[in-house]
Amino acid sequence: MKDYAFSTRAIHAGQSPLDRSGASTPPIYQTAAFSQDTGEALADVFTGRRFGHIYTRISNPTVSAFEAKVTTLENGLGSVATASGMAAILVLVQALAAAGDELVVAKSLFGGTYHLFEDVVSKFGIKVHYVDTTNPAAYEAAINPKTRFIFVESIGNPKIDVPPIAQLAEIAKRSGIPLVVDSTVTSPYLLPAKQLGVSIAVHSATKYMGIGGSAIGGVLVDLGNFTWKACKSPDIREAAGRFGDFAFLAIARRNGLSSGGACLSPMNAYLLSLGIETMGLRLNQHCRSALSLATYLHSHPKVKAVRYPGLPSHPAHELARAQFGGKFGALMTIELGSQAECFSLIPKLKLAKNQANIGDSRTLIIHPASTIYHDVPTDVQASAGVTPNLLRISVGLEDEVDILNDFQAALDQI
Ligand SMILES: *Cc1c(COP(=O)(O)O)cnc(C)c1O
Repeated sequence: MKDYAFSTRAIHAGQSPLDRSGASTPPIYQTAAFSQDTGEALADVFTGRRFGHIYTRISNPTVSAFEAKVTTLENGLGSVATASGMAAILVLVQALAAAGDELVVAKSLFGGTYHLFEDVVSKFGIKVHYVDTTNPAAYEAAINPKTRFIFVESIGNPKIDVPPIAQLAEIAKRSGIPLVVDSTVTSPYLLPAKQLGVSIAVHSATKYMGIGGSAIGGVLVDLGNFTWKACKSPDIREAAGRFGDFAFLAIARRNGLSSGGACLSPMNAYLLSLGIETMGLRLNQHCRSALSLATYLHSHPKVKAVRYPGLPSHPAHELARAQFGGKFGALMTIELGSQAECFSLIPKLKLAKNQANIGDSRTLIIHPASTIYHDVPTDVQASAGVTPNLLRISVGLEDEVDILNDFQAALDQI
């Protein structure tokens, strides 16, 4: 598959070697458990001497097909699928860190991720240092011998800031720790994570992988850039003796799925695999319409500011162009004159839905300060780029002309 371009791999990768039916889409193995004919055979699967499935909490052929597709798209070593994007981040933390350890995390974070680090991870006795997302020196200054990994989003959501990922990978490498990038907003189509030196990619598959916002899922991808036998996390270092390069994936699956229960369901794996087949095609359209809408809104007198990496006015426009292969994603924010204007605009949009997710076929709009960030302290809101006048837009797949007309007509009325 390696020699084929993105969409070819997205369509053809991930056929289960166990499936002999000739089914062209991944069959849904809707079962909790799998049997073996003899006691010896089941013992061999349990001990890893023989490939097979035991229980869907640990692995399942439909889920494996989804994992194989994602691994191929990232040119990675392997993947572990999880119940959601949030579950992927929780599994990641549980695999790499324990009480007394520390993490270095970029400040501009998706709201759910902020709450996970603040309310859950901190209770495990793991200390989180938040750093300015775009400033490499800040990451370097926060790293100490207790740091277990760096975590950053490929495009900060909702601040829409763009970190210099190759530079952060260098810093992580010098410090002997993995760089983890949440690439949900860019997807494997825009961000060549392996090439940039990222150790682990995290995705909320719910967004661009899924088809039309139909299923929740997540995935962790080991990109093969980190030498796990030199890992500072003792569990992984130990596992490297047995699993070699696959140590991280083995521990993530054992602790996060087998023991933690954060598995993806076969039905959702099926929907997400179907979605992946058209991901490249869809993202081309998402990105094209987003650039048109951002350009239009940028010139609109009622719009005070537009943040979109595709606009030359964005502080990291050139970096984004190089890092994301000339595409800029479909997420942007706009500032209007006041919170009242934001609330006035939302119901006047006929197509754009007022929804909390992103990456849907539908164009979505949300007022982050009063929703996703309603229970976050205002100083943290500010460092995540959330102000009372801010609206976040996720550009969908409706025809471009209709998206632009929808915003034009609504803006005319406020
Ligand atoms: C949505 C999202 C998540 C969480 O994913 P779920 O599948 O909703 O749990 C994590 N990170 C980013 C950047 C997201 O947009």
